[in-house]
Amino acid sequence: MQSLSERAFALLLGSGAHLRIRAAHSFLALLAYGLFALCQWQGVRLGVMDAQASPPHMAVYLTGGLLFYGLVRSGVSERWRDPSLTLPQTVFGICMAAVGYPLAGEARGGVIAVAMLAVFFAAIRLTARQGRALSAFAFLALALAMAWGSLGDSPRYPPRVELLLLLLTGISSAAMALLLGNLSRLRLRLTRQRRELVEALERIRQLATHDELTGLPNRRAVQDALLAETTRQARLGQPLAVVMIDLDRFKEVNDRHGHKAGDLVLRGFAERAETVLRGVDVLGRWGGEEFLLLLPDTSVAQAAACIDRLRDQLQRSPFDEVLPGLVLEFSAGLTACRGGTDIDAAIERADAALYRAKTTGRGRSEIA
Ligand code: GH3
Ligand code: MG
Ligand code: MG
Repeated sequence: MQSLSERAFALLLGSGAHLRIRAAHSFLALLAYGLFALCQWQGVRLGVMDAQASPPHMAVYLTGGLLFYGLVRSGVSERWRDPSLTLPQTVFGICMAAVGYPLAGEARGGVIAVAMLAVFFAAIRLTARQGRALSAFAFLALALAMAWGSLGDSPRYPPRVELLLLLLTGISSAAMALLLGNLSRLRLRLTRQRRELVEALERIRQLATHDELTGLPNRRAVQDALLAETTRQARLGQPLAVVMIDLDRFKEVNDRHGHKAGDLVLRGFAERAETVLRGVDVLGRWGGEEFLLLLPDTSVAQAAACIDRLRDQLQRSPFDEVLPGLVLEFSAGLTACRGGTDIDAAIERADAALYRAKTTGRGRSEIA
């Protein structure tokens, strides 16, 4: 059950993390416009600000702020290249500040701060170049407004004072451009570091769960998979076959052709096995030249047929990469795993069956 404040936030900002951030940003701008309008109204009442031009000016920026918020909050802007509408919102804010400058009279110094705020509003999304361009745009827009004020009403906007204000505006915009450049670089560095961290974590996860030589799940991962399979099996009531496989006379490959050739055979065996197995089957490297195979939703008889197919595959595709025509066989021990409490016992049964297959001639399967 959502609390009242949560419901109010959901109504105001929508759902979805990205939309919420964007809508909050636009809503904040709208709130600022509302507060500026209150100040401007007060300025008019005090006789400081232009009483005739202020109402339409306020109407335009309040409508604009509402429109931007509406476009973002409704999700309409999601279809556009910049769904946050950062650039148009900022340009609009700067223009509104510049238009407000000749209306502000003695309060015009505050308008410069408002224009700088509009530029800063875009800081979290701008590139360094966009930051420079927007700062320059704010400076030019205010310079134009100052010139307009001076030319139109020089008693209220004395050129000497306007020049001084222009100088201050120039210094502020240049500092703002520098600041935005630094922020943008910082943001890029953070983004890059985050991406590198995600990649490193993925690499660590891969190393922790996979055997480097064959790319197969390692012993721990295949044990985890077995536990997960028994949970699934208990829910669905399906059989689960477990097979221990050991390559026959593998040591001879190492002895005759070298350790590298042995590595090639191990990798080649994994590749050949993958072509026979289904996507749901899990073949893991148990250690050395031993592999543990999990066959979900498979009876022991079906598992035996699967192992026969694997034998055929090894016969049909010799390890030519090591020695032309080199065919390797394997022995296998098969058993049915009967749930989570049977995991260790099932592995032991499969291992014992494998041992029997070895001692009774190799190249064959035994069922336990
Ligand atoms: P059996 O038919 O009884 O299984 O005989 P085998 O030669 O296959 O078994 P044995 O246990 O005598 O030898 C296994 C060999 O596997 C010994 C070990 O050096 C080798 N081996 C284990 N891991 C690797 C590996 O990662 N790469 C290579 N090249 N050899 C490995
Ligand atoms: Mg062996
Ligand atoms: Mg072995």
